[in-house]
Amino acid sequence: MSEELILKGLAVSAGIAIGPVFILDSARLHVPEYTIKADAVADETARFNDAVTKSLRQIKRIKSKAETLPSDAAEEMNILLDAHIAMLSGSRLIRGVEKRIAADKINADAALQREIDHLAESFASMDDAYLASRMKDIREVGQRLLRNLQIEHIDFTLTIPKGSIVVAEDITPADTAQIDPEGIEGFVAELGGVDGHTAIMARALDLPSVLGAAGLKLHCKDGTMIAVDGVEGEIVINPSANTIARYRRQQQKYKKEREQLKSLKRLPAITSDGAEVALLANLELPRELTKALDAGAQGVGLFRTEFMFMNRKTLPDEEEQFVALRGMVEGLHGKVMTIRTLDLGGEKLSSALGDAIGESTNPALGLRAIRLCLKQPKIFETQLAAILRAAVFGPVRILLPMISGVDQVRQVREKVQLVAKRLQRRGETLPDPLPPIGVMIEIPAAALAADALAQVSDFFSIGSNDLTQYTLAIDRSDEQVADLYNPLHPAVLRLIQFTTEAALRARIPVSLCGEMAGNPQLTSFLIGLGIRELSMSPPRLAEVKRTIRGLSILDSTRHATTIMACSDEADIRKIMLA
Ligand code: PEP
Ligand code: MG
Repeated sequence: MSEELILKGLAVSAGIAIGPVFILDSARLHVPEYTIKADAVADETARFNDAVTKSLRQIKRIKSKAETLPSDAAEEMNILLDAHIAMLSGSRLIRGVEKRIAADKINADAALQREIDHLAESFASMDDAYLASRMKDIREVGQRLLRNLQIEHIDFTLTIPKGSIVVAEDITPADTAQIDPEGIEGFVAELGGVDGHTAIMARALDLPSVLGAAGLKLHCKDGTMIAVDGVEGEIVINPSANTIARYRRQQQKYKKEREQLKSLKRLPAITSDGAEVALLANLELPRELTKALDAGAQGVGLFRTEFMFMNRKTLPDEEEQFVALRGMVEGLHGKVMTIRTLDLGGEKLSSALGDAIGESTNPALGLRAIRLCLKQPKIFETQLAAILRAAVFGPVRILLPMISGVDQVRQVREKVQLVAKRLQRRGETLPDPLPPIGVMIEIPAAALAADALAQVSDFFSIGSNDLTQYTLAIDRSDEQVADLYNPLHPAVLRLIQFTTEAALRARIPVSLCGEMAGNPQLTSFLIGLGIRELSMSPPRLAEVKRTIRGLSILDSTRHATTIMACSDEADIRKIMLA
């Protein structure tokens, strides 16, 4: 039996999972094959070269991560990764693929597969152990290139055996959207930060998860038994019988606590001195709605519509979007549905967008979210039309992501009027009045301009995830700087306070829908600032409700005042998490 080994990572989603590994990156890829015209060879070669560049970037990131491992593991990883880098840098493999694209006039994916098959054949005839191990590396590099060529068309849902723990170098938000939470026990990856969208999805799916665990793939293969501790951020590879027994006990305890929390479902979120707090759900996929209602959500505070655009080759048309949204609005039976317009870009990508988003050195600062929508009126108007039509079936609020100034809100308002008129001409029924339009406050500029934005907005929703990312200049999904990602930084708290006060002054509703909302240790502070609506992933609702029921507004206000008087990050953490 192999030795037990513990790896450390970031605890991103609580709970314990025990099971055999399924390596996501090894999911069988379908390799499309088609011929190309002679004048398309240059473009196809460029597409292949982009995949090579992307692969090199990924390996280098894994390599820097490997530096944090104990020296012999780091050395082993380095040798392996250096071999992969060499293979991607003008090697026979790369040259061979380029030649095949030009000579055979076929797509890059097929050219790559043919070259790998050819190399495997010639190595096999040499019957040499060293070459056989090289072939393993070539296949691994080939898989990486294929994934980067195909990016979003990998359907691995069929291949994951039930009860597995998914292990990957990196799991993208689009990957998580494909995962059936009932089919797997948990997921772990070498990359990823605490409040990146992958982590958010893990919490929403209620799957124990640890991200940013260096050396993970070095130590396990398909079928290896592992235990994932999503509370401590630990992964135990080949757990002993004792370790498994200990984790099973913790699993039972965790399950029991969850059962107890369920009894709160029908009780209101009301403080001991009678103030009511609205607790709503953040959703990524329409199928999550039932779970949110089961967890006692009073509505949807954030529906991240961009997930409807992922893992597909074409954009959903108005009818498809309308049907999905109407289904959700009707499913809410009169409870509010906050639909955020498309927040694609950054780490949330969709190949259906084609070239709408070009290469960007800083994708988080680039063409994304509302900026993309205002530049691509057709995509935006289609979505607005679907939202307006769905709003006939129940209360809907429109929420705009990544707003930085009043002019953008004005432009959206004009667009909404235009789309409404167009629908009217088409004979569609419209909601009367049209849905309220609110803005996400998630860019420091928006927080600082909150007074002006309040004049043109019907409500605010504070996106503390991006607000933290942009205030501190820390990529929220990069595990290398995860220790610096701190939503409790006094600068972030000040911006939240400033925004809340601006909303209260203008008498517009303000909610918070970032991950802070689901952390019961922060509830008293947020309530103390004056926030009366929190939106979070459904599994967090019960615990936050229990916390609210044990609070008073008076104490919370004092608590918030004490915290706002602190300028030291460590002091804030101590008081907040006491
Ligand atoms: C946020 O930024 O806090 C937020 C809620 O939006 P998202 O996590 O989708 O960027
Ligand atoms: Mg955001």
